[in-house]
Amino acid sequence: AKQGGGSRHVLYEARMESDARDQVELQADLRSAVARGEFELHYQPKVNSQRRRIGSVEALLRWHHPTRGSIPPNVFIPMAERFGLIGAIGDWVVDEACRQIAAWADQGLRMRVAINVSPHQLRQGNLVERIEAALARHAVDPAQLMCEITESAAMEDVSETQRAFDGLARAGVFLSIDDFGTGYSSLSYLRQLPARQLKIDRSFIQDLETSGDARAVVDAVIRLSHALGLRVVAEGVETAGQSEILIDLACDELQGYFFAKPMSADALVGWARGERPR
Ligand code: C2E
Ligand code: CA
Ligand code: CA
Ligand code: CA
Repeated sequence: AKQGGGSRHVLYEARMESDARDQVELQADLRSAVARGEFELHYQPKVNSQRRRIGSVEALLRWHHPTRGSIPPNVFIPMAERFGLIGAIGDWVVDEACRQIAAWADQGLRMRVAINVSPHQLRQGNLVERIEAALARHAVDPAQLMCEITESAAMEDVSETQRAFDGLARAGVFLSIDDFGTGYSSLSYLRQLPARQLKIDRSFIQDLETSGDARAVVDAVIRLSHALGLRVVAEGVETAGQSEILIDLACDELQGYFFAKPMSADALVGWARGERPR
């Protein structure tokens, strides 16, 4: 239930639903996209609200289709999940993120990277081993990698999630609960998970300036998270007003177009070195 983009995405989705042959074609293309090198990770800063520096970045997957141009993840990730391709794509993301962490380190930039992990990957059973193998391949410190798992995915299969989270935490990988507020998790359950971070869904941030209720919810989530020892990230921060309110409410990190859009790995280096967040 996420809204990743503008009307172009909506058009795309509408067209895809209506055209079954399109689906079949795209599915075949998706199958070979990894091998053809059509994927790229873009990176969006999470800005530390105290020091106003980048704490870390979120890696967001991009598919550059040879003839159709850029296809948004809200379109192809669900397809990949349906057609059993998410395992291979997820493996590519893990490897690429680790490769990039090492490449940035060579350029003198130490950066923690958060990747998005889908519920299907959680259920793979050997997710921890796959991630550990990638970390070892690129000689990356596990503490530099974070996995974002949506609240609703975490609730899909509670025992499987618990097992995966425990394994990742034991491996030294940081964990983040994504899109918080859109699912129905119980707080006692969340307390059992060894997560370090909680991301408040964009829908609450959007309403911060106009809705007292949204502000009360965000305030409560931040207080509770801090009581549980979790750091809080606000996602989808688009205005100075939202940013000010979140800083007032002691939100730890801010992410959104107001600070920076997702960008290529090279652009991120320039952004981290030069441009200061507002
Ligand atoms: P998400 O994990 O909730 O990622 C945040 C989405 O919000 C991204 O869309 C990001 O570009 C967008 N965003 C960031 N700041 C703002 C803002 O200020 N305003 C608005 N309107 N949007 C903002 P994107 O890149 O299109 O990704 C959409 C979703 O696709 C992600 O939602 C995530 O669920 C999924 N996704 C992306 N990359 C991966 C991946 O490597 N693996 C998996 N499994 N899922 C991925
Ligand atoms: Ca995410
Ligand atoms: Ca999110
Ligand atoms: Ca979201």
